[in-house]
Amino acid sequence: MTSDLASVVPPSPDPADPADPAALAAPAAPAAPEQRRILRTALPGPRSQALQRRREAALPGGLGVTLPVFVERAGGGVLVDVDGNHLIDLASGIAVTSVGASAPAVVSRVQEQAARFTHTCFLVTEYDGYVEVAERLNALTPGDHAKRTALFSTGAEAVENAVKIARAATGRPGVVVFDHAYHGRSMMTLAMTAKEVPYKTGFGPLPGEVHRAPYAYPLRWPGGPEGCAEQALAALEELLERVGPETVAAVVVEPVQGEGGFVVPAPGFLPGVRRIARRYGIVLVADEVQAGMGRTGTVFASEHEGIVPDLVCTAKALGGGLPLAAVTGRAELMEAVRPGGLGGTYAGNPLACAAALGVFEMLADGSLLERARRIERLVRDRLEPLAAECPAIAEVRGRGAMMAIELVRPGTLEPDAELARAVAARCHAEGVVALVCGTYGNVIRLLPPLVIPEDLLAEGLDVLVAAVRSAS
Ligand SMILES: *Cc1c(COP(=O)(O)O)cnc(C)c1O
Repeated sequence: MTSDLASVVPPSPDPADPADPAALAAPAAPAAPEQRRILRTALPGPRSQALQRRREAALPGGLGVTLPVFVERAGGGVLVDVDGNHLIDLASGIAVTSVGASAPAVVSRVQEQAARFTHTCFLVTEYDGYVEVAERLNALTPGDHAKRTALFSTGAEAVENAVKIARAATGRPGVVVFDHAYHGRSMMTLAMTAKEVPYKTGFGPLPGEVHRAPYAYPLRWPGGPEGCAEQALAALEELLERVGPETVAAVVVEPVQGEGGFVVPAPGFLPGVRRIARRYGIVLVADEVQAGMGRTGTVFASEHEGIVPDLVCTAKALGGGLPLAAVTGRAELMEAVRPGGLGGTYAGNPLACAAALGVFEMLADGSLLERARRIERLVRDRLEPLAAECPAIAEVRGRGAMMAIELVRPGTLEPDAELARAVAARCHAEGVVALVCGTYGNVIRLLPPLVIPEDLLAEGLDVLVAAVRSAS
């Protein structure tokens, strides 16, 4: 699969080759910042604080922020702020900069494309980068059936369009989603997202015809993890019975849940959802926006259990930091929408497509997938012994470079969001960017760039371990 990719994606322009027309247009990509944690000031430093004051006067508070530090450069596993601090990046801008925030294969392609043209609107006149990205996704997504890909700009837009396509193809209105799901902040995807505060509160009424089934969350399954997959599937069947399966267009599932807490579903759950959807003629949509594009050690997280979704949504890491999203799926479903029914002014922007081709090039030899699997081993080796000694850690879980710890009050499953906040705050103060997630706000998630140097990851984990020890 990966060699297939290598043969189709053309190499980056060679800046040293005067015969390469792209070389003349593209200045050399800047070298990645020094891959070392450096704290020159307390965080946030004085320049970040001054910018933060301007931000607060100019922006609404509804735009939250994890760490009020302003970034000046970034690359590899490091963010450099405006005060000269080097922070260890365990977030990748929420699973976006998997190949790094200034990867030469991305930067050089974007520079070269920007120098030629920045936009035409693909619905007006065309460019080959869009077609190449579509071909790559058609080849790489699970299943060898005929496929089509439509590009968009954000994950929410991809999910919305998957719902549009599924409705157009089936003539049915209903959408089934799961507990703890996150699908975005647009109106339809808010209706599909599970968590009320802060995402949904005050924004209703939200679109209807959205039904919610339990997700096979082993740690929190009432009967324990053993019967989890089977009972969650029975609950899905029950829900379909109640609403009438012939009214349901799509089941939308994250193969590993993101914002909901990095939940890896109990083995057998995803294949079961696949079977049930097929039985009732329901379109299975895999929301791979966070877990896809190499993050979990396979190109798509659906591959871990060998499921073949009918539609796959990608975004986040797809554009290597530029806004790009996609719906890829069965040709007969994708062709159900009449001309003009899909698209958008910026959808599949040429700069974002150029960036994505750089991402595909970097994924092509499989070494970044291997890096993701190696990151899982390093994280488990460091955090599983900590969990054994620290009863506040209920579980270390995840796949590849998408790992998390769930924090609870010792001896119970009662979520400890306060502890998660305290741990994250200590990491931030020490210059390590770690994120909190989970329906109950009690999960610390790790999403390092796949290109993070191992010693930097180890240092980031040291800081996290010390933070858990001192806060719990
Ligand atoms: C982030 C995310 C989205 C929404 O993507 P945006 O680009 O923020 O609109 C949808 N689904 C999942 C699983 C996500 O993680």
